[in-house]
Amino acid sequence: MAAARRIVIDNGAIATVDAHDTEYARGYVVLNGNRIESLGAGAAPEGLENVVQRIDASGHLVTPGLVNTHHHFYQWITRGLATDHNLFDWLVALYPTWARIDEPMVHAAAQGSLAMMARGGVTTAMDHHYVFPRGCGDLSGAIVRAARDMGVRFTLARGSMDRGESDGGLPPDFAVESLDEALAATEETVRQHHDTSFDAMTQVAVAPCSPFSVSTELMRQGARLARRLGVRLHTHGSETVEEEKFCHELFGMGPTDYFESTGWLGEDVWMAHCVHMTDSDIAAFARTGTGVAHCPSSNARLAAGIARIPDMLAAGVPVGLGVDGTASNESGELHTELRNALLVNRLGAHREAALNARQALRLGTYGGARVLGRAAETGSLEPGKLADLVLWRMDTLAHASIADPVTALVFGAAAPVTASFVNGRRIVENGRLLTADEDAIARSTREQARRLAAIAAR
Ligand SMILES: [Zn+2]
Repeated sequence: MAAARRIVIDNGAIATVDAHDTEYARGYVVLNGNRIESLGAGAAPEGLENVVQRIDASGHLVTPGLVNTHHHFYQWITRGLATDHNLFDWLVALYPTWARIDEPMVHAAAQGSLAMMARGGVTTAMDHHYVFPRGCGDLSGAIVRAARDMGVRFTLARGSMDRGESDGGLPPDFAVESLDEALAATEETVRQHHDTSFDAMTQVAVAPCSPFSVSTELMRQGARLARRLGVRLHTHGSETVEEEKFCHELFGMGPTDYFESTGWLGEDVWMAHCVHMTDSDIAAFARTGTGVAHCPSSNARLAAGIARIPDMLAAGVPVGLGVDGTASNESGELHTELRNALLVNRLGAHREAALNARQALRLGTYGGARVLGRAAETGSLEPGKLADLVLWRMDTLAHASIADPVTALVFGAAAPVTASFVNGRRIVENGRLLTADEDAIARSTREQARRLAAIAAR
């Protein structure tokens, strides 16, 4: 066996986000290879062998790495368009452009999306990709490659659409696949990229886009496929009042009943948004263990509404946070979603009791790992779990006078990341990515955005 290679992080405030919300005002974390070996209050144990690096975390808060549970990487090159639209109008405005994407565009957009999240403390990312125009190249391969090169833990939700305009759906016909094509390509993606090991860097989920762009048959057969292959299921649900109306008109029932009728509630399922949920919808999610990706900024940007997160948490529904695609959340950051989740939910029925800072941090870490099915491996700082963690700098102008570091992280300005580790590997140093060149990515994404705009205008 190879000798242990230890990294010792000393003198930081630590929020473990374990089951007891254990925190240390001053403590240590010892990493050994790709695992957390030990952590606790006070100074690190003496006499540790094979210590390759010591990091003085004075003035820092150490937390689990952030986990993003909903995103569409390709939208990085269509940011800032249709800025005053609701969901359906926004989709109709953007689909014709999205239908022109190709492999170089999607690879650059994935790099941009991943870089923005990684330098802001995301250690586990996901991409729900559902636009596969004919002849567009190997989009799934390009996305997986970008995540692997960035060194971020990753779930690819292989999406699909087969309900084009002529079938009463929203996407144009030339942007959709057939039922058989979608199922076959999804199975192939699982076989190529899904890793079942404890420290897997890449996993794949089955992810038809939404009830208004997917046939009932694809929903049903997609659920069967995922269960046959032993992978998770993801889709969009209950995002807007227009979607609710669409489901009632087309299926004679609301979105949650429709999901239940197609096999789409269960502890292997998580859904983005879930804004328009009745008490019985929330009870159905809780009873079945169905998870939710809460995307407060996107919901605000598209005027979708306020998801009932406090009610979901009280009922026991697993909830994580999502950036959502950057065509509906131009910031592309997850650490600002901690703050937005807290603030937006306080505008709802529960007012100041809706969410506190520690609950917001839990949503963005352990809650996210749980909805991605990775809670045993990541999402909290505990011995034996994977070494996915972030050192947030709290001793500068922005945060130094805020009373408590977790409050500072959630209520304060976006905190600088001094270090971010994924699988024991440092990917961020003093706010800069070590695994990618941000300036080169900025150039290539601008170039691909222009290319896409020019092709779409033809
Ligand atoms: Zn989405």
